[in-house]
Amino acid sequence: MTTLAAPTPTHLKEDPWEMARSQLRRVAELIELDDAMLNVLSECKKAVVVSIPTRMDGGGVEVFEGFRVNHNVARGPSKGGIRYHPGVTLEETKALAMWMTWKCALMGLPFGGAKGAVVCDPKSMSLGELERMTRRYTTEIINQIGPEMDIPAPDVGTSPREMAWIFDTYSMNKGYSVLGVVTGKPLQVGGSLGRVEATARGAAFVMREALRKLDQPVRGRRIAIQGFGNVGRNLAKILAGDGALIAALSDSAGGVLNAAGIDVDSAIAHKAEHGVLSGLPGTEPVTNDELVLVDCDVLAPCALEHSLTAENADRVKAAIVVEGANGPVTPAADMILEDRGVLVLPDVLANAGGVVVSYFEWVQGLQEYFWKESEVNAKLNDIVTGAFAETWRLHEERSVSLREAAYALAVGRVAEATTTRGLYP
Ligand code: NAD
Repeated sequence: MTTLAAPTPTHLKEDPWEMARSQLRRVAELIELDDAMLNVLSECKKAVVVSIPTRMDGGGVEVFEGFRVNHNVARGPSKGGIRYHPGVTLEETKALAMWMTWKCALMGLPFGGAKGAVVCDPKSMSLGELERMTRRYTTEIINQIGPEMDIPAPDVGTSPREMAWIFDTYSMNKGYSVLGVVTGKPLQVGGSLGRVEATARGAAFVMREALRKLDQPVRGRRIAIQGFGNVGRNLAKILAGDGALIAALSDSAGGVLNAAGIDVDSAIAHKAEHGVLSGLPGTEPVTNDELVLVDCDVLAPCALEHSLTAENADRVKAAIVVEGANGPVTPAADMILEDRGVLVLPDVLANAGGVVVSYFEWVQGLQEYFWKESEVNAKLNDIVTGAFAETWRLHEERSVSLREAAYALAVGRVAEATTTRGLYP
């Protein structure tokens, strides 16, 4: 029997695709992009919708909906993660693909932007169900992906485990191992050292540079982090290691607070044992709505979109917001934060460490020659701090927000590549 996955309430408070396009329009004015170019960049090159019939453990078949969207390939093959989430939509996937285009261009990587998603609740699925769904999804998009075409990676709800299944499914269909088809793979099958922590490490580098501009050290800064997955958990670990005080943490079930500092290793152990952060000894409970408003120096939303909106941005106490997640600050919230002098380190800059090391993984896979972790981290630091410096310079020269400066650089580069290539035919 075939059943459809039940619709789930969404985390989205606005249309993310409209939000991404409005950010693009704002920067188009700033860099005087001509209308034809704006029209080209405002659309996705390709969006594929697939159905993924999957044998469930009970013997029935569930049909999941999946997407793979390529926004732009003017600068190279498209790159972007795969999200497994019950509330994910095609419009959200398109927005995430567009943000990937800007992120890759800002970092100077030879990639365009893409994103994939499956509407499912991975937490409620068994390992076998997840593997069968992932392999069928890969097969459904097999003609869309490839090392020279479009290269997926992990995102919310996926991890190196899913990347290994994608790598294997693609390779089985080709008849030989294709390391470059996907990044974020486990180390045993061509992953890169430093990839798991790369997004958080990049965010920590960007935060360090921003604090330096304010003449403040990382040591002693009070940090609140929303989301305790790949990005949030590793960011907490890295910043605690650098001497910052982790004041609040959360996952989808809620958060924990201790103004005197949370021990991150204990939080990781508690989450591993109980599945949630709630109840961590020595902490008080906070909701996710409260977490973004706690007293701290730096707020790092590292979960999903729309954590800060027009409803709460005027009450944020942090001096710096580091967008570990993609799209956590809506354009209306952006304006409120800017007016209040809160420095927002935008997603395309702050969480680009992941795609930078994914690029390194792709290069290592193509060459079948693997680097030391110290080399990976040093090269990551070079690229991310270089992009921060360029963005900061434009932010000061043009008196625009860091987001507008980052977008101006990125959109300008994609527009230049598009013009140089010319319009086919
Ligand atoms: P993940 O699945 O590993 O973790 C997500 C975390 O967010 C989990 O702790 C989950 O409990 C929490 N969460 C989910 N819904 C929440 C809610 N409504 N409120 C509070 N917490 C919630 O995902 P991830 O890879 O850490 O990705 C997090 C964000 O970072 C996403 O926006 C993603 O696009 C972005 N990002 C990830 C990478 C990467 O390399 N993984 C790279 C760049 C950007």
